[in-house]
Amino acid sequence: MSANWSRNAFVYLLIIVAAATLFINIYQPGEAPQQISLTQLANKIKAGEVETIIVRNDELHITLVGSNLAVISRRESTVPLTQTLAGLGVTPEQLATVNIKYEAPGNAANWLSLLVNLLPLVFIGALFFILFRQTQGSNNQALSFGKSKARVFTGDKPTVKFDDVAGADEAKEELKEVVEFLKEPQKFAALGARIPKGVLLVGPPGTGKTLMAKAVSGEAGVPFFSISGSEFVEMFVGVGASRVRDLFEQAKRNSPCIIFIDEIDAVGRYRGTGLGGSHDEREQTLNQILVEMDGFGTDTNVILIAATNRPDILDPALLRPGRFDRRVTMDRPDVVGRRAILEVHVKGKPVEPTLDLDLIARQTPGFVGADLENVVNEAAILAARRNKRAIGMRELQEAVERVGMGGPERKSRLMTPQEKQVVAYHEAGHAVVAKLVEHSDPVQKVTIVPRGGAGGYVWRVAEKDRLMAKRAYFLDNIAVALGGRVAEELVFGDISNGAAMDIQQLTQMARAMVTKYGMSEKMGPLQFGQQEEMVFLGRELAEQRDYSEEVAEEIDAEVNQLVSAAYTRVHQLLSDNIDSLHKVANALLERETLNADEFQALFATA
Ligand code: ADP
Ligand code: MG
Ligand code: ZN
Repeated sequence: MSANWSRNAFVYLLIIVAAATLFINIYQPGEAPQQISLTQLANKIKAGEVETIIVRNDELHITLVGSNLAVISRRESTVPLTQTLAGLGVTPEQLATVNIKYEAPGNAANWLSLLVNLLPLVFIGALFFILFRQTQGSNNQALSFGKSKARVFTGDKPTVKFDDVAGADEAKEELKEVVEFLKEPQKFAALGARIPKGVLLVGPPGTGKTLMAKAVSGEAGVPFFSISGSEFVEMFVGVGASRVRDLFEQAKRNSPCIIFIDEIDAVGRYRGTGLGGSHDEREQTLNQILVEMDGFGTDTNVILIAATNRPDILDPALLRPGRFDRRVTMDRPDVVGRRAILEVHVKGKPVEPTLDLDLIARQTPGFVGADLENVVNEAAILAARRNKRAIGMRELQEAVERVGMGGPERKSRLMTPQEKQVVAYHEAGHAVVAKLVEHSDPVQKVTIVPRGGAGGYVWRVAEKDRLMAKRAYFLDNIAVALGGRVAEELVFGDISNGAAMDIQQLTQMARAMVTKYGMSEKMGPLQFGQQEEMVFLGRELAEQRDYSEEVAEEIDAEVNQLVSAAYTRVHQLLSDNIDSLHKVANALLERETLNADEFQALFATA
């Protein structure tokens, strides 16, 4: 490219000039010119031996006839030279044989010496300029159409560290490996270790996904290239793909480094669903991302991090091994996490010593990092408006309300104490039943931190792969799903609408037992209905009925029977273990999240 070429030429020129400068500095003294007095000069002029005199301030540079020996003479620069010489007896005729040149003060010679002295500085300045230009990339070039915007970030090394991301310890733990790899790729390569190419950060907006990606780059001290999926969507046809190509090319040249694709769901949705019109551009962009990822050799030390809050709509091709096969969850923070995040954002701001961040953390279930940052900021603004020197509890509390009011979905995040209690008992119900029945997967985590519409959740993880599920396994899982609702009923004598998802889930399980797995004694080992899994249309939409109305009624009756038997069982189970239920619920109200060990510990003391 011509721009590149001329820049190189410029660099070469600078090097040559610098070398010349050095040369001049070293050799300039040469043989020191001979010094003569003005009287001697006058005599030489009279003898016709002088060819030229160059008058340079108070120096006379004299060239003699037939000799290139330079001679210097000093004079009083206030008196004109001709007058001085006349005073020494040089006649005008004799003077006319000499070629006298005057150089203006601040003349070439001075410029030259100035230049010689300044050149090293100029040279260094020019180098800085070039480096600066390089970091800027060729943004300012015309015709950079289709070049990735990511080049703006060339060489951008975030200063964010893991410490700046509070309360996401599990995610940090998982990403430490990536940091180590980026720091010392050779070490891993030497052992033939396969390093993840792509990490998918999953979590609701504002939970610090972007911050975390930057922190990985900051911890590893490598450049961070970032682009947002939504940027691709609004582009002209063909531009998205070429941008992706550009982005990866840049990244490879700057490896080890990180490419961060924010909002990857904007380009990475299921392809070819035919629903909602076709998006050729998006598809091409996605294809290009896949092509680039597959083109990464083991020696390409570039790690892709993508963020999304909708992992469910991503094209499965993106999640295949060798692509975004590592998933790191950034959940809404629990009370401990919120406290830590508040701490991060309060740091460096003047606060009153009476500040009770624990209390604020307890008042803000459902708030994400971005909300909490906002709370601290609002509080600071309030304090400033009140001409206070420091942020006080009053400001923080008002800020919580303000931020909590922002938008309907935020509003629901501010749970009343009663709501919180209902959720705590509901989740405790699921968890206690899961603990008591034989075939449930062990409880990994119970939380009442709201997420995606649900008040809380109980996370269970299978200890081993289950190839064949027994009837008892299904029954136990139906029981666990009922646990939440039954617990509410036992404790409050009423049920909330929070159990809707559970009911749907357990009905599906019961139906599947009867119609799909042939687990109903009454219906026998038969399958009813052809269930094609239509991923794109929502799973059950495409069920085809191949049985009569009567059989349908029988199925319904059988499902009902299964569920009501399960209900009686769970009611008994929780009544007998009501102490455990209270214990777990109270622990949840206090700590919001219980991990496997904390949950088990509650039973050990029972
Ligand atoms: P996301 O990318 O998940 O939407 P961001 O990373 O953009 O979230 O978060 C927005 C801001 O919220 C961050 O710049 C940071 O100030 C604050 N924030 C979010 N999560 C955290 C956290 N875990 N610790 C500290 N600050 C956080
Ligand atoms: Mg973000
Ligand atoms: Zn539930």
